Amino acid sequence: MSGNELRAQAIANITNRQPAAHTPPGKLEDLWAKDVFTLGKMQECLPKSVFKSLHKTIKTGAPLDVSVADVVAVAMKDWAISKGALYYSHVFYPLTNATAEKHDGFISVQSDGSVISEFSGKVLVQGEPDGSSFPNGGIRSTFEARGYTAWDVTSPAFVMETDNGVTLCIPTVFVSWTGEALDKKTPLLRSNAAMGKAASRMLKLLGHDDVAPVNSSCGAEQEYFLVDANFASVRPDLLLAGRTLFGKSPAKGQQFDDHYFGAIPERVQIFMQDVEEKLYRLGIPAKTRHNEVAPGQFEIAPFFESANVASDHQQLMMTVLRNTAKKHGFVCLLHEKPFAGINGSGKHVNWSVSNATQGNLLDPGDTPHANAQFLVFCGAVIRGVHKYGPLLRAVIATASNDHRLGANEAPPAIISIYLGSQLQDVFDQIAQGEVTGCQAKGEMNLGVDTLPVFPKDAGDRNRTSPFAFTGNRFEFRAVGSGQSVAGPLVAMNTILADSLDWMADQLEAKLRDGVELNVAIHDILRDIICDHGAVVFNGNGYSSEWHEMAVNQRGLLNLRTTADALPVLREQYIEDLFTKEKVLTPVELGSRFEAYSEQYIQSIEVEAKLVVSMAKTIIYPAAMRYMAELANAIDDLGDIGIEFGKDSVVTVAELTKAMMASVSNLEDMLTKHFMSIEEHMQFCAKTIRPLMDEVRDSADALEGEVADDLWPLPTYQEMLFIK
Ligand code: ADP
Ligand code: MG
Repeated sequence: MSGNELRAQAIANITNRQPAAHTPPGKLEDLWAKDVFTLGKMQECLPKSVFKSLHKTIKTGAPLDVSVADVVAVAMKDWAISKGALYYSHVFYPLTNATAEKHDGFISVQSDGSVISEFSGKVLVQGEPDGSSFPNGGIRSTFEARGYTAWDVTSPAFVMETDNGVTLCIPTVFVSWTGEALDKKTPLLRSNAAMGKAASRMLKLLGHDDVAPVNSSCGAEQEYFLVDANFASVRPDLLLAGRTLFGKSPAKGQQFDDHYFGAIPERVQIFMQDVEEKLYRLGIPAKTRHNEVAPGQFEIAPFFESANVASDHQQLMMTVLRNTAKKHGFVCLLHEKPFAGINGSGKHVNWSVSNATQGNLLDPGDTPHANAQFLVFCGAVIRGVHKYGPLLRAVIATASNDHRLGANEAPPAIISIYLGSQLQDVFDQIAQGEVTGCQAKGEMNLGVDTLPVFPKDAGDRNRTSPFAFTGNRFEFRAVGSGQSVAGPLVAMNTILADSLDWMADQLEAKLRDGVELNVAIHDILRDIICDHGAVVFNGNGYSSEWHEMAVNQRGLLNLRTTADALPVLREQYIEDLFTKEKVLTPVELGSRFEAYSEQYIQSIEVEAKLVVSMAKTIIYPAAMRYMAELANAIDDLGDIGIEFGKDSVVTVAELTKAMMASVSNLEDMLTKHFMSIEEHMQFCAKTIRPLMDEVRDSADALEGEVADDLWPLPTYQEMLFIK
């Protein structure tokens, strides 16, 4: 079939599609955590002393007593086998945003040739996948490719059911033979410990005797697109790059704002229910679902959990979304910018820190001005985001997220904090020397007697801020939809640890000098606001005035591209931060720079090659066919004495010529070699990407000229609006 026939076939397939079989969702209490080896299940089947030991490790971070592993392994295996599992897998999170797993059978062959199911503590605790093909940023060469996975007791094991069977999945860290972290989980656990230690120290200084372990929490809102699989299968760009590299803007886009929170199409709703059912079984607390701003775009948000578990669950959620979409004849696009000119997808990472004795440490309560503890923690975040803003930019830097950041729809690449008017006012008062009160929350009266009067939030929402205070937590809004949340969480925990340590040092010194506690806190907060208040911005982050002011008056960095942002990881002050807080060694940090830089370059080069091949083998032939048709028609008309149609051939010919000239230029540029990885990244950002856009501009203009029945690629209109 030729390209345009494939496109027509795709539309016909969708039109004739039978609705997916739909069984009503089961009861929550029957589904909940059915596939998880929960604490409750462990308590049921483990000897008391073993459970107690394990429970202590999970709840307080106490060291794992390895001697319990054998008992746990047997119980875990028996449970998994009762769920139908034949295999187990250590699941880990390499430096890509993917999830990796290696499956091993429970099968063990005995000397008499019979088989039994076997799973020991040793294999539960430690595994050895051949790690040589995972990115390691130069930590290992292939001849010393040993990598180990080690059981993370704090994230529950679960079974994953697919059409190919049931597998016991054990969340693990992934480290090299020499002990360096090769994954995203190890630094997350370390950063949580560093933050917890610094927070406890601070809470004790603030006068608390009873301080339970402090943990970070995360609730991540996931945006995604759904496209019918019939369309995706005839678009090599969607298949290989996860985004469209060509495509003319449709006459109707999102300008009517009619999709946001609109009624969810039935087919999508059935898909969502299926996803939620799977998530519930996996113990993932999916909570909200709705349409997003762009046509074909949706969001799912789970209830928040401890950062480490939330991060594992986020990875699992992306897997479930992708796999379930396939079953429903969709492709789920987690790319940050699948369609040019249409809103991209983010993953808002809501983050806070809390413990069992003092509660949520970022909750201001009703009287934030009098809540020294809250002000200390909030002040620590402000200092951290100012001092390490470029780091926050670097941890969300990918080739795909660059399409969002800085565009007029997503937070800007400049990292600032939104506090809202109430908190802003409190910090202003601190800076001026005396705190007298705070703006009241007030009530909202809707003017209709039958409607309730409800308390009004003290601060409005600001959707243009990359890092916003949202009532009792911060929301890092610049994270990309396809990314692991671990990197951003590591950065937030680590900068908070650094700030709290710094403040605790100051506080201890002042207290030693006989300064009264509240006066000392006030002085430290005033210094923070004076030195770091430049990062607080409550206005419109999209405006050009802000971009100008941020850079020229406030000295904030505007790191537009990944090529600008990743080198931050090589700065001495970042290395010092991670070393001091024992989150990443210099070698580990360096390896992350290398791995992420390589990923950036590779993903742009893959896309560029795809642009070349699609332009040459799909778009060029369509344009030539159309020109031939036109030329024929012009000839025929000429035969009967009508001069017509030459202009359109000329237009198409010129666009085609321009496109092919850009293609050949791009091909040349792809053969260049570079002295350094930084130089190579800049070349990708400044030369390759603009050339890809150039090819696209001509191709998209051709889409507006060539006869629709000859156009081979499903159009934006079709992909976004046909359900
Ligand atoms: P919205 O941002 O649209 O108001 P929600 O109020 O549903 O959305 O909250 C967004 C996310 O923030 C949810 O995942 C929610 O569980 C999470 N969240 C709420 N409180 C906290 C907290 N203390 N720590 C981390 N995440 C939180
Ligand atoms: Mg939100």
